[in-house]
Amino acid sequence: MSHTTSLVWFRRDLRVHDNEALVEACAADNAVPVYCFDPRDYGTRPYGGSESFEFRKTGPHRLRFRLESVAALRDALRDHGTDLLVRVGRPEHVVPELATAVDADFVTMHTWPTTEELQVETAVKDALVEAGIDARRYWGHTLTHLDDLPMDYRDLPDTYTTFRNAVEQGVPMREPLHTPAIPSLPSDAPESGAIPDPSDLDPSFSADSELPAPPAKSVLPFDGGESAALERVESYIWDGDHLREYKQTRNGMLGADYSSKFSPWLNEGCLSPRYVQSEVERYEDARVKNDSTYWLTFELRWRDFFQFQFAKHGGDFFQQGGIRHRTDIDWRDDEAQFERWTAGETGIPFVDANMRELNETGYMSNRGRQNAASFLANNLRLDWRRGAAYFETQLVDYDPAVNYGNWAYIAGVGNDSRDRYFNINKQAKRYDPDAAYIKHWLPELDALPPASARAPWRLTPEERADYGVQLGVDYPEPMVELEASYEKLR
Ligand SMILES: Cc1cc2nc3c(=O)[nH]c(=O)nc-3n(C[C@H](O)[C@H](O)[C@H](O)COP(=O)(O)OP(=O)(O)OC[C@H]3O[C@@H](n4cnc5c(N)ncnc54)[C@H](O)[C@@H]3O)c2cc1C
Repeated sequence: MSHTTSLVWFRRDLRVHDNEALVEACAADNAVPVYCFDPRDYGTRPYGGSESFEFRKTGPHRLRFRLESVAALRDALRDHGTDLLVRVGRPEHVVPELATAVDADFVTMHTWPTTEELQVETAVKDALVEAGIDARRYWGHTLTHLDDLPMDYRDLPDTYTTFRNAVEQGVPMREPLHTPAIPSLPSDAPESGAIPDPSDLDPSFSADSELPAPPAKSVLPFDGGESAALERVESYIWDGDHLREYKQTRNGMLGADYSSKFSPWLNEGCLSPRYVQSEVERYEDARVKNDSTYWLTFELRWRDFFQFQFAKHGGDFFQQGGIRHRTDIDWRDDEAQFERWTAGETGIPFVDANMRELNETGYMSNRGRQNAASFLANNLRLDWRRGAAYFETQLVDYDPAVNYGNWAYIAGVGNDSRDRYFNINKQAKRYDPDAAYIKHWLPELDALPPASARAPWRLTPEERADYGVQLGVDYPEPMVELEASYEKLR
């Protein structure tokens, strides 16, 4: 039998568990694992399309997490007796070059449904075909496999509940794949290559600067890599036993365990959703099966939903009018207002606390994301795509489909025909009743009673003097009158 060599191109699937591209590559006699930092993912880039703007593709939080995750994958592969070849360059150049250099018979990779990911992957595939090398693509980042959907993805319903009902009724979920025995590198494999410094990818990082680790007041340190991901699953589900009350706690905002915090690992691919699901089922057998254990799967299905929606609607999701091609909303462009929102200086504490958490840590709770996004898109009516792009920069757990899908939903141009604005004062009262979250991120409001910390503009001049909080000095005046801004939406 002839000797075979494969190359596995790691992308946002930085794990050795449940990784079909890796498993398939391991059928060869020699396998060459490769990761490629694509320069287009870093630095300042145009958004593209009509009324484009510039934004930074990957901010420091996700870059730190990714560098750690790639290093962890390299360590894991070295523990398996092989290595990870790391390069900086366009994958459509790097992957075929390496595949040719090692005389690969075939190349395996995972596929994603979002525009840029798909373009790069198509370019890689075309270049491989041109070089006479077989390119094999696998779908591997959702709970339900694309091929197991009850209908063609182009015919999927656009509403979540209809989608969920369809997949819940009898669509099997595949078992996670075991980590394979990984064949060694070929003897003439190219050098492994260094993991780049941040400044190699984005010149706005200075040469010797360290990327900031999340501060102590972050919900979690968010260490990148597969081991950290598996430890988080263990500590959240098993050691802390938090799954039994997830549905009741998931709307919290302070602390490590109100929700799973699996998202950064899921989105860089350090963690497979099918592995999470298998742990949920194991927990249900061993401890308790209740509405909370169901609800984690329910949320993971939201993640699936957006992946399949992007497969169906493609680039429309990134357009201002979204998948509904709306032209009736007058989106505004106001740089000063946008900057106040990004800086957490809007004068609306519930929004500002969330934006400051995002800026300092790369994470924000789901409740926070809904309110911060709604404020920008609905109360300010600033171009929602700029808000979504800012999240893209900052989020440690950014996923194109989940981020832009949720933003479009809230902006009224996505998967919901109702207007989805949030009443921020009511939300703050309900989800931060003692203003502990606000004060955690806005210590300048510490002296205020909860109701005033949520709405400092209501303080009388005497109260401002008594508490030592001067609006416009210690904390900004509100940039918009909230109630009046809702009137325009009704
Ligand atoms: C405007 C906006 C932008 C968002 N951008 C992203 C993003 O870029 N990446 C991202 O992973 N999530 C995003 N979300 C969804 C959600 O806020 C995060 O998944 C969640 O806060 C992550 O924390 P967790 O892992 O503790 O969630 P948990 O509550 O523990 O949920 C478990 C998992 O379910 C999935 N999930 C939960 N909520 C949603 C949702 N609304 N949509 C899709 N999947 C969901 C996530 O994979 C999450 O890790 C966004 C939400 C909004 C409103």
